[in-house]
Amino acid sequence: MDASSSTRPHMVVAVDGPSGSGKSSISKKSAEQMGLSFLDTGAMYRALTWFCLKNELDHEDQIQPKLIKEYFDLWISIDPTVEKVVVNNEDITREIREDLVTTNVSKYAAMSKVREFLVKKQRELVELAGQRIVVEGRDIGSVVLPNADFKIYITASDEARAKRRAVQTNSDEKLVLESQKIRDSLDTNRSVSPLIIPENAVVLDNSSLDFDQSVDRFIQIVSA
Ligand code: C5P
Repeated sequence: MDASSSTRPHMVVAVDGPSGSGKSSISKKSAEQMGLSFLDTGAMYRALTWFCLKNELDHEDQIQPKLIKEYFDLWISIDPTVEKVVVNNEDITREIREDLVTTNVSKYAAMSKVREFLVKKQRELVELAGQRIVVEGRDIGSVVLPNADFKIYITASDEARAKRRAVQTNSDEKLVLESQKIRDSLDTNRSVSPLIIPENAVVLDNSSLDFDQSVDRFIQIVSA
């Protein structure tokens, strides 16, 4: 465990960045090595998308916070070594990574009522973790946790990101690049909580770094 993270009473690290930048795996590994909890907020948006698709909830006016609160019971692991997402007692860890969810998630994530509900839950989870956590997403340093101890924006070139995702998912690189561009554009141009580089964030561009080098750089940033 890193010395500085073990001696601080709280250690909240906000990580943002575009899809395919490796931010999830880099943040998770870094959290594990520093003995911190880890929250993948994208998985929460995916879980809500899965729930809405399953229940044919399409329009924002159908997705009231009161309704979500009553019928959408979400549990997500904050242990960096355990990837698990459960909705209404159903383990949907795998389902939330399927194409149907991936292609629809940005639409639901642009709905202010959806964000309101999930942001509240994200802040509760930070408290549950005793404020010793790495939280990863698109609006963490800017909206969810503007007072985080550290803010990191993880990115890589469009091509490097598409290449990695194509290898991971065994898909065609050109198709991945196209769908990545669409998702990037939806995430950066939406009116509510668009993806931005938060003020005071350190940019970690890993286009030419391998995974271990990226984790080392991450830990170096939060040890400053
Ligand atoms: O990180 P991941 O690719 O799993 O996130 C899925 C989608 O969830 C993103 O494309 C984005 O639309 C949305 N998201 C968001 N805000 C977050 C995390 C994810 O809008 N904090």
